[in-house]
Amino acid sequence: MFHTGPFDRTADVVVLGYGDAGIVAAVTAHDLGAEVLVLEKQGRYDHRPNSRYAAGFFLVPTDVDRAVAYAEALYAVNGETVDPALIRAWAEETAANPAWLDEHGCAHADTGILGEHHILPGHDAITVHKALPGPRPAGYTGCPMHGFLRHLAERRDIEVRWGVRARWLLTDASGAVTGVLAEHEGRVERIGARRGVVLASGGFEAAPDLTTQYLPVTPVHFYGTRHNTGDGVRMAVEAGAELWHMNVWPGHFVARFPDSGYDGGTAIDLWGSGRFGPAPDRRPPGSIFVDGSARRFQAEPGPQHAAHLGLLAMDAAGLSRPRVPTWWIFDQARFDAATLVPTYSGPAGPVGDLEWSPGNEEELRRGWILMGDGPAEIAEQCGLDPDALEATIARYNAHCAAGADADFGRDPATLTPLAGPRYYALPLWPGGSHTLGGPRRDEHARVTSVRGGPVRNLYSAGELGSLHGLLYPAGGGSIAECLAFGRIAGRNAAANMITGG
Ligand SMILES: Cc1cc2nc3c(=O)[nH]c(=O)nc-3n(C[C@H](O)[C@H](O)[C@H](O)COP(=O)(O)OP(=O)(O)OC[C@H]3O[C@@H](n4cnc5c(N)ncnc54)[C@H](O)[C@@H]3O)c2cc1C
Repeated sequence: MFHTGPFDRTADVVVLGYGDAGIVAAVTAHDLGAEVLVLEKQGRYDHRPNSRYAAGFFLVPTDVDRAVAYAEALYAVNGETVDPALIRAWAEETAANPAWLDEHGCAHADTGILGEHHILPGHDAITVHKALPGPRPAGYTGCPMHGFLRHLAERRDIEVRWGVRARWLLTDASGAVTGVLAEHEGRVERIGARRGVVLASGGFEAAPDLTTQYLPVTPVHFYGTRHNTGDGVRMAVEAGAELWHMNVWPGHFVARFPDSGYDGGTAIDLWGSGRFGPAPDRRPPGSIFVDGSARRFQAEPGPQHAAHLGLLAMDAAGLSRPRVPTWWIFDQARFDAATLVPTYSGPAGPVGDLEWSPGNEEELRRGWILMGDGPAEIAEQCGLDPDALEATIARYNAHCAAGADADFGRDPATLTPLAGPRYYALPLWPGGSHTLGGPRRDEHARVTSVRGGPVRNLYSAGELGSLHGLLYPAGGGSIAECLAFGRIAGRNAAANMITGG
C-alpha cells in the first residue's frame, strides 16, 4: 500500500509479532542503539504465541560444514535448490545460539538427541539442546525459552504495543517498505519505520483458507496458537515477496477434542513415557496405528517430524484418504501408564487450553477415548472391519513373540504385544506444531522479491517463511531459527538506512 507519510508514530525498527523471533530481533536491534517498536496483535495478559506452547528444544550444529552437508541432503530429497549462502548463515548462526544464550543468562542442556534423518550424511553434526527454567516475567507460564526472552525484552523496557494488528505494509513508489498500517481497537494507524520492518508474525496454522489451499491434505490440525492467521503471508504477498515452503510442514499424527473448547489438535504420547520415544528404563506398553482397512502401514511411531508424509496418499478410485483418520489402538497397560497427551507443552501443557485428567478417566467418560472388550467391539466403535482388526492384532502380536516386525521393521525394543481383552482407540489426524511457509528470506534475513533481489527495508524471522522444507532437520529446528534469524534480522534492520535498502 503506497504511503510515505505522514505517520501517526515512527520508530527506527518496527517488529511485527512478540514470539521468540520477534523478541530476539527487537532485543538485538535495541542493543545496537535502534529505537524499536513491537506491534503484537494479541492482548498482554492472555498472550499465546506458538513460542509459549513450545517444549523449548533448539538444535545446535556441532560441526558447521557437516551441518551444511546435512541441510543440503535434506533439500535434495525433495529436489529443492539450495541457496548456499543462506544455508551457511543458518549453520553458523544456529551454532552461535548457545554462546548467545550463555551471554544473556539462559540455562540450557544438551539432550544428546541428533539430527532426525539418520540415513543422511551429517545428521550427527546436529545435537539438540533444551532451555531450562530460569528468569521469566512474574506470572508467566509456558516454554522456559519464551519466558526467558520476554524477561530480556522487559529488562530493556522495549516498547510493545499490545492488541495492535499489523494489516498491510506501507511502501514508496519504488516498492521499498516505509512502515505498517495497523489496527488498534477499530482505529487505523500508520506507523513509519526509519530503518526497517521485521515480519515475525508466525505462520498460518489458524488460517483455514491458507491451510486448505496450500497444504497437501485437509484437514491438518495444529497443536499450538490459534492466533497465527497468516497475516505475514498476506502482507508479504502484497509487498511483492516471493513465497516458499507453503506446501510442507513438520508433521505427525495428532488427536483432537473440539468439545473441550480448544479447536486445535494435540500431540499424543504413544508410550506414556512423557517424551517422543519410549522411556529408556521400561518396556513400553502395546500400541499400534491402523488405517481405514484396519491394517498397520508403517513402523510406529514413525519419524517425529515426518510421519505425516506416509498418510497423504489418496485412493484415487475410491476418492478417499484411507489413512485419514489413522486409528491409534492400545491396551489397558497404555491407558493406565500416563496421560494420553503430553502435559509438558502444547494445549494440555502449562498454557492450560485443555484440561486433561491424570488417569484419562474423565476423557473416557466424555467419550473422547473409545473402549471395547475384544477386537470386534473396538473395531465396531471405530467403524473398522472387525475380522481385519483381529487379524492385524494377531499378526502384530506374533511379530512381538518373534522379536522382529517382519512387516515394517519396527524397533524391537518397542514390540510389546497388545494385551486384551480390553482395547482403547483414538482417531488421529494429520497435524503438527507449526507451518513453515511464507516469504522467502536470504542470508541477511531480507525478504526476497518476486522481481529478484530483496524487498527493500523488509526483514523476516521465525517460522514465517522458514528455511526448513519438506524435511525438518531435528527437534528444535524452529526455535534455533527464531534465535538465529531474529539476531540477523535485528542486526541488519538496525544497520539499514531506509533509502539505501
Ligand atoms: C506444542 C508445541 C511444541 C513446540 N516445541 C518446539 C520445540 O521444542 N522446539 C522448536 O524449535 N519448536 C517447537 N515448536 C515450534 C515453535 O514453537 C514455533 O515454530 C516458534 O516458537 C515460532 O516462533 P515465532 O516467533 O516465529 O512465532 P510465534 O511464537 O507464533 O509468534 C508470532 C506472534 O505474532 C503475532 N501476530 C500474528 N499476526 C500478527 C499481526 N498481524 N500483527 C501483530 N502481531 C501478529 C502473534 O499473535 C504471535 O504473538 C513447538 C510448537 C508447538 C505448538
